[in-house]
Amino acid sequence: MERVELIVTGEYVVVDPARPWIENGAIAVNHGRIVSVGKSGGIMGRFEAERVLSRPHGLIIPGLINAHTHASMVLFRGLADDLPLKTWLEDHIFPAEAHLTPQLVSLGAELACAEMIRSGTTGFVDMYLFEDQVASVVDRVGLRGWLGEGVFDFPSPAFASGEEALSETQRLFDKWRGHERVTITVDPHTPYTCAPGLLKRCLEVSRRNDMMMVIHLAETDWENGEIKRRYGASPVRHLENLGLLGDWLLATHCVSVGHRDISILARHDVRIAHCPESNMKLGSGIAPVPAFIEEGITVCLGTDGAASNNDLDLLGEMDTAAKLPKGINRDPTLLSSVEALQMSTSWAAEALHRSSDLGTLEEGKYADFAVIDLDKVHLRPCYNPVSQVVYAAGAGDVQDVAVAGRLLMEDGRLVTIDEKGLMERLSKETVYFKGRVK
Ligand SMILES: [Zn+2]
Repeated sequence: MERVELIVTGEYVVVDPARPWIENGAIAVNHGRIVSVGKSGGIMGRFEAERVLSRPHGLIIPGLINAHTHASMVLFRGLADDLPLKTWLEDHIFPAEAHLTPQLVSLGAELACAEMIRSGTTGFVDMYLFEDQVASVVDRVGLRGWLGEGVFDFPSPAFASGEEALSETQRLFDKWRGHERVTITVDPHTPYTCAPGLLKRCLEVSRRNDMMMVIHLAETDWENGEIKRRYGASPVRHLENLGLLGDWLLATHCVSVGHRDISILARHDVRIAHCPESNMKLGSGIAPVPAFIEEGITVCLGTDGAASNNDLDLLGEMDTAAKLPKGINRDPTLLSSVEALQMSTSWAAEALHRSSDLGTLEEGKYADFAVIDLDKVHLRPCYNPVSQVVYAAGAGDVQDVAVAGRLLMEDGRLVTIDEKGLMERLSKETVYFKGRVK
């Protein structure tokens, strides 16, 4: 018998959404990686584990990756709803963010991590302020993070200028370099909040250190018109003219794009983070995801911040992402449940250049997984576990979550976060905070 650290057995294992699932399956984990996946009988007969997590009603899936969020914005959940993006951002969110401190960002990030773990998420892409605080929280709670300090032309609550935010980006890159779970990215906010010179400086830092870049791109028709007015090109072509497009760029939203823009994004192998619920809530429109996929673009899925969603639940987001193109195009064959789950797992890993070690439960990859408890009235019968994950399961159905084989949630209890203490701190801090925002 070979010795391993952990075996997890379940009713089903979805190794890769695009491949047939395993019934009565199991994964064997050693040194944080999957050493074998197959039928439970075979795994139990071949390995002796220090620990066996037996989940007879469990559906084991690859850990979900939230490809776009602003984690600490959970602090502003429900602060300003039902407003257009520009009003929401400039009249409500920016003034509220002026009161942010590193401590509040840390508190918000921890709350967000608790919510993401509870909904089966094992990694997230984050753009925010005081990002070093977010990195420390990610380090402590055991998730994976692709984290970037927001860069703007104007002073942010954290930095006096875009150049200072870029220096911080370089400092963060040097500080966290080599960390197994924290990856620093370069995050210019948008083409309309960063002038061409600053965007080029972001590109320099990104290429010098081989870092990914994250930007909000073509989120609204207003942005499209504004960039055309300023620079005589669509936001996509504007970035192409500046040399920013490449496989290093994760472009978020891409709602207001034409056929030509889509071809340009595909030609440069730009990756797209689709945030359907945020786009719907802010009335921005709906990104043409089937056209992206048709063009061969790697598309992944994000919740965006909780102030425009208003939750960080990727299970709910997949449901929305799969149904939206069907409804608006009157075609139920568009965006299958398999594709929705790929957007949150294998395609997200591909978008982040990590398909060699993340995104599926294949041998050799990190044991980042979630177990969904199928022993619920709304999850029976189960004919197709992928359909169940995308169309029927919710955050409350997640039972266990692990990153690199380390359990962050076990049988519904968070292991690395003191949830009670967190809620107590939150209620104290938001009382303080409530008195300081409009
Ligand atoms: Zn965003």
